[in-house]
Amino acid sequence: MTNFLYEGNSIYSILERSPPREILSHLLTTRHAPNDDPFFAINLGILPQLVKLWKQLFPSIRPFYAVKCNPDTLMLSVLARLGVGFDCASKGEIRTVLGVLSSSNLSSTDSIIYANPCKQLSHIQYAKSRGVNLATFDNTCELYKHSKYHPDSCLVLRIQVDDSSALCKLSNKFGCPLSSIPELLQLASQLGLRVVGVSFHVGSGCMDAEVFRTAIRDARKVFDSGLNYGYRFTLLDIGGGFPSCPGLDPSPSLTFLQSISNVINTSIATHFSDWAGIQVIAEPGRFFAGSSHILSVSVTSSRECTPDDNNNNTNIMYYVNEGVYGAFNCIMFDHQQPQPQLMDSKTAVSPVLRSSLWGPSCDGLDQILKEIQLPVLSVGDWLFFEQMGAYTRASRSDFNGFSAPINYYYVTTDQLTELYSLLATSHPYVPFLIKEPDRKEADLKCYPIKPAEIGLLVSAVI
Ligand SMILES: *Cc1c(COP(=O)(O)O)cnc(C)c1O
Repeated sequence: MTNFLYEGNSIYSILERSPPREILSHLLTTRHAPNDDPFFAINLGILPQLVKLWKQLFPSIRPFYAVKCNPDTLMLSVLARLGVGFDCASKGEIRTVLGVLSSSNLSSTDSIIYANPCKQLSHIQYAKSRGVNLATFDNTCELYKHSKYHPDSCLVLRIQVDDSSALCKLSNKFGCPLSSIPELLQLASQLGLRVVGVSFHVGSGCMDAEVFRTAIRDARKVFDSGLNYGYRFTLLDIGGGFPSCPGLDPSPSLTFLQSISNVINTSIATHFSDWAGIQVIAEPGRFFAGSSHILSVSVTSSRECTPDDNNNNTNIMYYVNEGVYGAFNCIMFDHQQPQPQLMDSKTAVSPVLRSSLWGPSCDGLDQILKEIQLPVLSVGDWLFFEQMGAYTRASRSDFNGFSAPINYYYVTTDQLTELYSLLATSHPYVPFLIKEPDRKEADLKCYPIKPAEIGLLVSAVI
């Protein structure tokens, strides 16, 4: 079938809502040039649903998506049109976001926080030249740099918080201890800088909702100390650390997210209800990106192990075409344990063997799973991994010449319906145009898209 439109290495499709396995095999059988290359199936339609969920859980907190988590420009443009702002950490991320905003005719004013407390001088100058006027800091060096290169910027003081329960700790690197705050605020005030608020990050992959309670309480203390130095803060930035919820259906992560929202909303009410004019923002990364991507890889080789084998704890080794130098770097950097599923459920009836799973590079470190029970697989069989959108593509490399998986973007029909209802209920964010692509081939369970409609599909998604 050639109805699908390719742009670069991407196809865009509108599919019936169905289980991931069906969506993937649909993409596989309908793509232009079938081959054995790995691919991402990227569900753009989940983003409006996630924004809606965010608004339900955190009605008064504007999200600034942490770009480092996954800088996919289509994702960024969808989020931008839904009124989400951006947390950028570098000149490159700022440039990407400004490009996305201007191509969507959206203003960049108030949509970017430069949330890296330790910035390169020329990046600060770039931020100034592009009107990015909100940045975080946690040290005196940064204050001197700002006073010289971007003295009018609004500054947000990042404080240290307890991140001991998080998958990825950040407080070993960033965040001013409470005891050093007087010194910092004193200097900021001497330099005539505009400190406007307080930020923190409880660590990525936070596992304990209570840390938000302590962090918000501490932030209030810093608001009070600000008064001693002539600052009346108005911005509280509660950072990231929110889990990704698979599929939006009831799940342990959704329950956990609800408990985080309880703690946060209660703590803000407790500690800040007497503080007039406060604006609260957050910097979720994983929450928006995690569930949007499914990664499919194919088996390229296998090796049966003998007792003399170094890997004799397993019966068989499978090699697939994306590894820890690729998107599975999340095993190393993000402490994830991705679990494969079989694309072809029929394979599941064959005998199950103790197997190990390896990436494609020539490095012995490149192992995805040490031991897993798998049916006998052949070269060309597909495995897929859900929840592969956060800290995967963003930090992959082409090591050994294995280039990035192909991107296939899709929306499901029920997600389009969701978009209509968002519009119908006077959605508080930026309104946008929706044009439904030609649905004549509805019985094929997929809707072909004409080249001219690609922009419209993207507007349909957003
Ligand atoms: C990484 C990062 C985030 C995003 O964290 P998540 O856990 O993905 O939500 C937000 N803010 C800052 C400053 C970060 O470094």
